[in-house]
Amino acid sequence: MRLTIFGSGYVGLVTGACLAEVGNNVLCVDVDERKVEMLKRGESPIYEPGLDELLRKNLEAGRLKFTTDAVEGVKHGLFQFIAVGTPPDEDGSADLKYVLAVAETIGKNINEYRVVVTKSTVPVGTADKVKAKIATTLQARGAQAEYDVVSNPEFLKEGAAINDFMKPDRIVVGTDNPRTAELLKALYDPFTRNRERMIVMDVRSSELTKYAANAMLATKISFMNELANLAERMGADIERVRQGIGSDPRIGYHFIYPGMGYGGSCFPKDVQALSRSAADHKFNAELLNAVEAVNKRQKAVLFEKMRTVFNGDLAGKTIALWGLAFKPNTDDMREAPSRALLESLWSAGAKVRAYDPVAHEEVHRIYGDRPDLQLVKSANEALQGADALAIATEWQEFRSPDFDLIASQLGKKVIFDGRNLYDPAFVKRFGLKYYAIGRGDSV
Ligand code: NAD
Repeated sequence: MRLTIFGSGYVGLVTGACLAEVGNNVLCVDVDERKVEMLKRGESPIYEPGLDELLRKNLEAGRLKFTTDAVEGVKHGLFQFIAVGTPPDEDGSADLKYVLAVAETIGKNINEYRVVVTKSTVPVGTADKVKAKIATTLQARGAQAEYDVVSNPEFLKEGAAINDFMKPDRIVVGTDNPRTAELLKALYDPFTRNRERMIVMDVRSSELTKYAANAMLATKISFMNELANLAERMGADIERVRQGIGSDPRIGYHFIYPGMGYGGSCFPKDVQALSRSAADHKFNAELLNAVEAVNKRQKAVLFEKMRTVFNGDLAGKTIALWGLAFKPNTDDMREAPSRALLESLWSAGAKVRAYDPVAHEEVHRIYGDRPDLQLVKSANEALQGADALAIATEWQEFRSPDFDLIASQLGKKVIFDGRNLYDPAFVKRFGLKYYAIGRGDSV
C-alpha cells in the first residue's frame, strides 16, 4: 500500500520505517530540511535502538523515501498519517497548529480519496477540526474530493519503539465508517495476528483512550512517589513496599517505581492537556491536577537532599551526574528530571561533571557550552574531582559500579540515587553515604 507520513520525529519515523519493513511504499514528509537531508542519507536524527538498521534497509529497498515536498506527499499515499508534534500551549492545552497545518495542506492538494489518520496525541474533538479544516480548504479552491478522518493514537515507548510497533499490545482505531475500519485492518494485519489486537471504536473514545493511558501511567508514578516521600519520613523502605504491593495481581509490578518524577515528551504534556480539556468542559479534574503537582514536587526531591547534606552550601562544589536522558535507551531530554536537577545545582553555584551514554548532543543543543557543565566520556571519568555522585537515569551500565572506586574519588563520599539502583546496606559497606528515594534515610 502507498502511504504518506507527515512528521519524521520519534513517532513518524518509527511508523514509517516499520510500515515500510512489511512491504508498504512509504513517503515521509517533514518541514525540517536538515532532518530530511540526514534521513535521505540513511542517518537517523534520533537515538532509538534498531531504528538505524531499519531505516537503511528500507531506504535501500526503495520502500521508504523522505521529502519536504508536501504536495508530493498528498499525491503519494492513500493513507495520510499525521504524526507531527502537539506541544503544550501557554495554558497547558495541546497546541494543534501543526496538526491543522497538515490538514490544510491535505485540503489544498487532495484530488482523490484519502484516509487521513491522526497518530499525534490530540484532544477529543480534534478529528472534527481536521475534517472541517480540509472541508473549508477544499471549498476555498472550489474542488471536491472524498476523504475520511480516522483516529489512530500511538502507544510506542521511546527506547523500545520498534518492538512496540512491530508487536503492539493493541492498535486502537477510531472511526464510524466500516469501510475505513477495513482499510486500517488490512494495513495493520502484519502486526496483529488474527486481528485480535485491533480495537475499533468511535473517534472520540479513541482520542480519549490515548490520554487515559498516559494519565493512568503518570498517576501510578505520582502515587508511588507520594508513598516514597511518606516511607522515608516513617522509616520504611519504599522498595520493600513496592514488592509487597506489586505481588497483588490487581496492582502488578509495572510502573510502580519511585524516582525523580516522570519526564519525557508525553506524560507531562498529556496530563496537563487532559486537565485543561476537562476545564474546557467545566470539570475540575482534581486527581489529574494532583498527579501533576506531585510530579513537579518530586523533580526537586533529590536536589533538596543534596542541599541538606551540604548544609545549604553547594557553591563551588562539583557533582558527578550519571544519566541525563529522561529514561534509558533514548537521547530524549524533553522534560527530563535531570534538567530540573542541573538547573537547581547551577543556581546554587555548583559545577556538574555529567555522563550519559547517548544524550550529550541533545544536552549540548539545549544548554550550549557553559563553564559549570562538563560532559565526559565515561561514568568513572565523571567521578574525578567530584564531591558527590548523583544518579538521574537508570542506564544498565550504572547498575553494578565499582564502589571502591567511587568511594576513593568522591570528596564527600556520598551518593544521591534518584533511581534506587542499589541496596543501601551494601553501598554503606564501602564507607559511602547513600541517599535514595523513599528508603528510610530521610535527610
Ligand atoms: P517530534 O517533535 O519528535 O516530531 C514531530 C515532527 O513533525 C518534527 O520533525 C517536525 O519538524 C515535524 N513537523 C512539524 N510540522 C510539520 C508539517 N506541517 N509537516 C510535516 N512535518 C511537520 O514529535 P514526536 O515525539 O514524534 O510526537 C509526535 C506526536 O506523537 C505528538 O502528538 C506526541 O504526543 C505523540 N506521541 C509521541 C510519543 C513519543 O514517545 N515520542 C509516543 C506516542 C505518541
